[in-house]
Amino acid sequence: MRLKGIAASNGIVVGPVMVYEPQIYDIAESFFESGLEERYFEKFQSAVIQARQELNTLETRLKIENEEKAKIFCAHQQLLQDPELIQRITTCILRDRMNPEYAVSLIFDEYISMFQTIKDPMIAARSIDLSDVKNRILRILSGKCEKNLSYLPKKVIVIAHDLLPSEIATMDYANCLGFVTEMGNTTSHTAIIARSLNLPAVLGVPDLLSYIQDEEQILLDADAGEVIINPTSRDLEKRKEKDEYLKNENQNNSLPCTMLDGQMIELGINIGSEEISQISVSYDYVGLLRTEFLFMGKASLPNEEEQFKVYTHIVEQCSGKVVTLRTLDIGGDKILPSQTGLKEENPALGKRAIRYCFENRDLFMMQLKAALRASAYGPLQLLFPMVSSMDDIYHIRFMLEEAKQKLREEHRNFNEQIKIGVMIEVPAIAFISDLVAKEVDFASIGTNDLTQYLCAADRMNPAMGSYYQTMSPAMIRILDHIFQEFKKNKKPVSVCGELAGDPVAAALLVGLGARILSMSTSNLVRVKKLLSSITFEQTKSIANVCKQLKTEEEIKKYVQNKIKYE
Ligand code: PEP
Ligand code: MG
Repeated sequence: MRLKGIAASNGIVVGPVMVYEPQIYDIAESFFESGLEERYFEKFQSAVIQARQELNTLETRLKIENEEKAKIFCAHQQLLQDPELIQRITTCILRDRMNPEYAVSLIFDEYISMFQTIKDPMIAARSIDLSDVKNRILRILSGKCEKNLSYLPKKVIVIAHDLLPSEIATMDYANCLGFVTEMGNTTSHTAIIARSLNLPAVLGVPDLLSYIQDEEQILLDADAGEVIINPTSRDLEKRKEKDEYLKNENQNNSLPCTMLDGQMIELGINIGSEEISQISVSYDYVGLLRTEFLFMGKASLPNEEEQFKVYTHIVEQCSGKVVTLRTLDIGGDKILPSQTGLKEENPALGKRAIRYCFENRDLFMMQLKAALRASAYGPLQLLFPMVSSMDDIYHIRFMLEEAKQKLREEHRNFNEQIKIGVMIEVPAIAFISDLVAKEVDFASIGTNDLTQYLCAADRMNPAMGSYYQTMSPAMIRILDHIFQEFKKNKKPVSVCGELAGDPVAAALLVGLGARILSMSTSNLVRVKKLLSSITFEQTKSIANVCKQLKTEEEIKKYVQNKIKYE
């Protein structure tokens, strides 16, 4: 049987399935009869003992491969040792005759709400840990087995309704061959993380969970966006042929990207992890370091010193290549431990990214200082997400100056002339590109969000696919405007949204004026291959025709026909 979804991250793998269903417990008020106190108390006690054992095993296993992840489970064990918490649950069971499930849920929820109201984001982060521990005990009390993505006992393809970026960030990569979900699409952050980790992924497969069972063998062809359940030997043969083809394609990738008529295009990579050494493609610079991804899997947000070490490590590994560090872009589908209290009706239009940072000055200051300090160790530039007005830019400059002043007072080294840039991903800022270009050193177009906000179509919702038009006439016009204004002001503007990693779209972007493109490492070779096989003049005339076309479909068809990319 074959299921179709959205090809989110390239690669083809075969393996058994692990169906991941995060357990959510809705516990109703319930009590037991007098005389059963000891029995229910023992049930609770043995659940706590089992939870401690599970956490201890997880911590021990993870210590060897990932100290950071191990710390999360160590913190969970500490919570389970809190005498006050345990005592209060015990009282509820022994004195008030509450069922253990109800007692656990009630007391944990009280603690969680209390932590969520605390202003300090580091302390507020503890509420996520509390929820995790609560769910673990409730799961044990309900007699269910543990399913945890942080430790996968063997190589599996993970199948789920949806996976949060934080769940992927803490996943056991060594044993995850790839994943498939019912939700998500190419620009969801789940897909972006998958690409940055080179994990094959197909998203947005309708009713996936009703077709696949645990342990079933599947062929995940993420290039074609296809899942084949119980593949035949012919399917497997085809997979081998494709593998060979891709290996050949990856050879010779160290040459710069030069178009047939000599036009050079700078190609950058988008990263979200410290592990630069694992990147096998050759790239010109780091066009986007999504710093929020670095911290998503951690028990709490790292302090200035810890962030400084991470950024410096990345800068040093890039050996002289520019690193574009984007400040925290959290909110929307990217929730950090420090954000637990944040619940908004429309998170994508709410306190996201720079807005969140402005509200949480200490957290922003900590990141700015850490990044500035890392700039003493190599070429680092700063990029700010979700900027929507000139006020935002003035505010950023003001806070950056404050961070610099603090460092001067602390006698720290940093690059006084550090370049600053903004993401152009909100139409309001795109339309004033003329003003923006005068105020910043560079800009980077985030086509994922720009499309979302321009078309009013949720980038996370596969049902909005036909409205989420990355190559619509409106997008062409807005992109054209941005490129022209930055050119007039002689300031560089790159494209770092997922559109840049699509070879066909990349050709159109070049024709519209892009000279710098940044993308997931898994797309770079294909983009370079295509751009090196056509002329700059060709892309310009393609773009000129596209500016006159009336629908996205016409634009896509036209570009595809013109450059004949398979
Ligand atoms: C974008 O919006 O295009 C972008 C690059 O940022 P992110 O995908 O992280 O929101
Ligand atoms: Mg964005």
